[in-house]
Amino acid sequence: MYPVTLEVKDRRCLVVGGGGVALRKVQGLVEEGARVTVVAPEVVEPLTEMADRGEIDLERRPYRGDANDGWALVFAATDDRETNATVFRDAEEASVWSNVADDPELCSFHLPARVRRGPLQIAIGSAGEAPFVVRRLRQLLERRFGAEWGEWLSAAARYRGAVRGLGAPRAREVALYDRFFDSTVDPDRLTARVPTAAEEQDWLGAPVDHRASEGLEVEEVPAGGDGLEGALVSLVGAGPGCPGLLTLRGRQRLLEADAVVYDRLAAPALPCDLPPEVDLHPVGKTAGSHPVPQEEINALLVRLARAGKRVVRLKGGDPFIFGRGGEEAEVLAAEGIPFEVVPGVTSGVAAMAWVGVPVTHRREAVRLTLLTAHEAIKSDGPQVRWDVLAKDPNATLIGYMGVSSLPQVVDNLIGGGMDPETPAVMVEQGTTSAQRHVVATLAGLPAAVEKEGLGPPALFAIGPTVGHAETLDWVARLPLAGQRLVVPNSRKELAATLEAAGAEIVLLPLPVTPAARVVMGALPLTGCVTCTAPEVDWLDEERGGSGWNDNFVAWCMGPEAAARARDRGWPVVRELVGTADDRELVARIAGNAHG
Ligand code: SAH
Repeated sequence: MYPVTLEVKDRRCLVVGGGGVALRKVQGLVEEGARVTVVAPEVVEPLTEMADRGEIDLERRPYRGDANDGWALVFAATDDRETNATVFRDAEEASVWSNVADDPELCSFHLPARVRRGPLQIAIGSAGEAPFVVRRLRQLLERRFGAEWGEWLSAAARYRGAVRGLGAPRAREVALYDRFFDSTVDPDRLTARVPTAAEEQDWLGAPVDHRASEGLEVEEVPAGGDGLEGALVSLVGAGPGCPGLLTLRGRQRLLEADAVVYDRLAAPALPCDLPPEVDLHPVGKTAGSHPVPQEEINALLVRLARAGKRVVRLKGGDPFIFGRGGEEAEVLAAEGIPFEVVPGVTSGVAAMAWVGVPVTHRREAVRLTLLTAHEAIKSDGPQVRWDVLAKDPNATLIGYMGVSSLPQVVDNLIGGGMDPETPAVMVEQGTTSAQRHVVATLAGLPAAVEKEGLGPPALFAIGPTVGHAETLDWVARLPLAGQRLVVPNSRKELAATLEAAGAEIVLLPLPVTPAARVVMGALPLTGCVTCTAPEVDWLDEERGGSGWNDNFVAWCMGPEAAARARDRGWPVVRELVGTADDRELVARIAGNAHG
């Protein structure tokens, strides 16, 4: 096998088949400018839409020996092996390169899996020998290579232009390229960064003339403050985690953004239908890696804005409540960068609503205090007046970042005169499918939290209204509470039913977007619901990605989907008979969870 990358722009390509697999091929080809003809009696919705927009030619009919018609490339992705084999034979006879999906023997070329970061492409292939490892490797690299690599490659292209512009001897050029690479790439962590203009000048010994770039088209990033046209940084509150609690304006800004810089707590609320070309910059702490320091986040926001981009800084809850949103706004203001704030639903109030605690209540709690409980174990900076809070029985106290400092908080309050019997609650991962909570007395809360093993992110509430949780904990009573299900986004009604029954839904677009992959990986998935075999094929590509686990249940509406899921080796497949409706599905999932 001989690897090449092909220029397919304006070349005629044939795709036989109209399911999810065919769609992915078509999308990839159209993105690169190929002229695509699709032949299939039936096609999935997105293909019809592409045809309506004039992006492809669609011929709704069976395959009729078309493969020898002078195509640059031919693809077959039908459900019928006989048809696929015929397409392959016809193409071979006409010496046209052809590829049959999932059938390495019927291929004169193979498609590598790709990881893309802007202009950077990493291709992985196994010459058709072991496609399953290719899928897993791609998932691995997807996680290891952050969005910064795209920006980095654009910077490298720009730099190359500047180096060429110097007209220096070849040896000096090579040394300058090495300098760039070695200074910007961390080979152990597999991270890259964009050098500052000052660094580049220093290496080149001359001011950088970005107009000298050639080859790749790259945007100009001016060094001065004049690149702000069109730039806007929106500090958006993502809400507490439940995807439905992102505001309408927040969603709108996300869909219009060029780049999204998001925290870990904000990840589950990213819209799955975020266009794939939006750059995603994770800056929160994830297992095994350190959070990006605040100064670097500030610098990233400034750099993106200076490139004229619309940037969303997506933060958990509300951006101005214990999220350092104020500090980020200060930096933007100081740099003269236009910014706006889109408030969000703060986790302290929302998580309490989810466990049935009204944070104010007539005659019981007439004041609400939000505090960063972490201050209880710090001695520098302004101090919380625990003594004052302790003496106000008609109030609710909500503590953020309060797991490790909880014993100290409780000591301070009881020491200040608060009744040790005051009702108290701790909520972990509030409003998400992973939510857990314990109710206790103030004095008993630390032990109860330890016993249940609750950990961050978690919040506590202390005050008389916590007593209502017993009668008002409406979420825990929903049949599908705790379920996190992947549902194809063509099944919106089904998704709505499952959500109303308490499940958190990841509405997966076809083709799967990078944002959807972030969302799937944000919390453990409990299962998926599929109705057709092509849906199973498409989800199968994602299986094993982060968020997926061994307990994952494939709920299959009908025998066709179930058979395909078993064929593909899915570990837990539950089949619903053809007549089953959405209500039966809810009952089955609920029964499975409790039985
Ligand atoms: N700006 C955020 C708070 C950021 S501070 C907001 O308005 O909600 C981070 C702390 O918020 C965490 O340590 C935790 O105490 C709390 N938190 C955020 N999301 C949470 C959630 N879903 N459940 C419980 N606590 C949460």
